[in-house]
Amino acid sequence: MHVRVLGSAAGGGFPQWNCGCANCADLRAGAPNLHARTQDSLAVSADGEHWFLLNASPDVRSQIEGFAALHPRERRHSPIAAVALTNGDLDHCLGLLLLRESQPLVVYATERVIQGLLDRNAVMRTLDRFHGHVRWQQLHFGREQALVDASGRALGISLLAVAVPGNPPLHLRNQPASPEDNIALFARDERGFTLAYAPSVAALGDWTARLTESSCLFFDGTFWSDDEPVGLGRDGRRARDMSHLPIGGDEGSLRALDGRVPAQRFFTHINNTNPILRVGSPEHDAVVAAGWQVAMDGMEVRR
Ligand SMILES: [Zn+2]
Ligand SMILES: [Zn+2]
Repeated sequence: MHVRVLGSAAGGGFPQWNCGCANCADLRAGAPNLHARTQDSLAVSADGEHWFLLNASPDVRSQIEGFAALHPRERRHSPIAAVALTNGDLDHCLGLLLLRESQPLVVYATERVIQGLLDRNAVMRTLDRFHGHVRWQQLHFGREQALVDASGRALGISLLAVAVPGNPPLHLRNQPASPEDNIALFARDERGFTLAYAPSVAALGDWTARLTESSCLFFDGTFWSDDEPVGLGRDGRRARDMSHLPIGGDEGSLRALDGRVPAQRFFTHINNTNPILRVGSPEHDAVVAAGWQVAMDGMEVRR
């Protein structure tokens, strides 16, 4: 399996256009220990030829241009065969609209997330320009599904969706919550290498048992502490109110997952306020000392 980190920042990216927090300000000023990041997405391939994306970020256009394996090989072509979505948040889905130039694609998501995108959303008809333009493929819990491209050709990877505590996207908060709102995805190749991808995690629980058996993990690193986002938004929400379990603290993911995660593990989906973005900060060093890597755009895993 070949995994490429296309983007490693939470919604808004790093720096975020309307953010003047210490991280964003120092990055703009050229601080050498801070590195810009685009919004969270992974590109995955079994053969290096045919790829699928885990989440389609609003930065997908520059992410494709920045990775030669995703460039077209004919006058009209894309190595991207499919996209799988972990939830309906705009920072995970908006990229679909940027992939609209008549390229056949398969999009994998839960029924709930597909409904949220297609139901009364006229803009999504831009992905329905011709019969078979985009095929929406439902992910079902407890069933591993072999990924295929738009012509039905197998990509050599199977995908398993697991429900993870979370919320519907902000623009659908009037709906009752469903286990299908937010998932972790486990991508397994034919040699048994398993990539676990859980960029939005409101709480741990039984579902984390599968993390132990994975070969490589990308986990929600949005916030270091629960009060980190307070005072930035208009609503005073804390990390947990935003369905993100913080990394630090007695009940944070770093301590709670200790000993239950694969050796190769990354925090990703990192909010621009998070102190782990600052190389050499105590929080950054604590994460690294615990055997985690802080994901950065362009990192790769090959097995
Ligand atoms: Zn997100
Ligand atoms: Zn910021």
